[in-house]
Amino acid sequence: MMDTFFVDLHIHIGRDWNGKPVKITGSKSLTLSNIFEEATNRKGLDMVGVIDAQAPAVQEEMQDLIDRGQAVELKEGGVRYQDTVLLLGSEIEVYDAACSGPIHVLSYFPTLDRMKAFTAWLSMKMKNVNLSSQRFYGTARELQQYVKEQEGIFIPAHVFTPFKSLYGKGVKQTLREVLDPDKIDAIELGLSADTEMADGIGELEPYTYVTNSDAHSLGKLAREYQRMALKALNFEELRMALHKREGRKVLTNYGMSPAMGKYHQTVCAECLFSVEVSASRCEQCGSKKIVKGVKDRVEELKSSTQMKERPPYIYQVPLSSLPGVGTRTYEKLIDAFGTEMAIIHEVSREDLKTVIPEQVAERIMAMRNGTLTIEAGGGGRYGRIQ
Ligand SMILES: [Zn+2]
Ligand SMILES: [Zn+2]
Repeated sequence: MMDTFFVDLHIHIGRDWNGKPVKITGSKSLTLSNIFEEATNRKGLDMVGVIDAQAPAVQEEMQDLIDRGQAVELKEGGVRYQDTVLLLGSEIEVYDAACSGPIHVLSYFPTLDRMKAFTAWLSMKMKNVNLSSQRFYGTARELQQYVKEQEGIFIPAHVFTPFKSLYGKGVKQTLREVLDPDKIDAIELGLSADTEMADGIGELEPYTYVTNSDAHSLGKLAREYQRMALKALNFEELRMALHKREGRKVLTNYGMSPAMGKYHQTVCAECLFSVEVSASRCEQCGSKKIVKGVKDRVEELKSSTQMKERPPYIYQVPLSSLPGVGTRTYEKLIDAFGTEMAIIHEVSREDLKTVIPEQVAERIMAMRNGTLTIEAGGGGRYGRIQ
């Protein structure tokens, strides 16, 4: 029987179990063990991908959890901890001769052994495998080849962010310039894009879109995520869902509205006034420094007006970022209803109102239904919920 699950595949590791930094800008409490705890007991995420698992100290911590019986490696890939299955992944920066700017890509492997072998291979092509998102000295195609030979999953990361992404600056026109299109399992939209924006790009038609948090702290887990139809929680089921095999698939994408992103609109760099992309100077202050927004960049790349059948994309923000939900309210909600996923998706309006003011309960319902109103961001300033 098919079941539905909440999945977030892009979570960083701030510190290893020796307290050493992995993602230097990540939070100190963002450790492997804490991610397991947060995902299973507070967020209610069924499957999470940790994308700094190439770091040997992270692998040691995982091995220790397995040796102590806290976590179990699954035959079909992935590691189970209580109600959550974790996948081992690695975010890597590629900047080969074919790229016109650095791009980030995600590689996942089914087992700890395969991830360890990947680290050994990477250490010949990378200066420091202990740190997150390091530069790979090789071509993107070479990396894809390795991932496919080792039965991994390959996903270009946050493809529309203005920096370090495929369509940010990575390619001039098409992804074929840089990647082998047959060795891509899905496309990660990233915080600055949604399904509608991406769908104008004809070459993305064959791929499933994934929406992930890119969390640098525990609170940001499930900032973006998806609901998937799977028969069980493991690596092979995820692969089937990404390729829409035998009923497995992404049912809904949940994420920030692109308008919330800090580079959504084209604006004047000096005064942040919104300007036309064709304008040569700002109408408000006269400055010639214009910062092109993601919206206009995607417009330039559009090649198709044909919209494909896609899962719905529901705009959300993390529960703790919803106006009216401060730390105390958030903890009250978790105490009463268990997990963030339960609060956002399941608890009835009436039950919410027994714990929080009516206005805040209505806002949670608006988020559940995708009807929050948003004021667009740009030029480095985030959008806002109205
Ligand atoms: Zn990245
Ligand atoms: Zn990342």
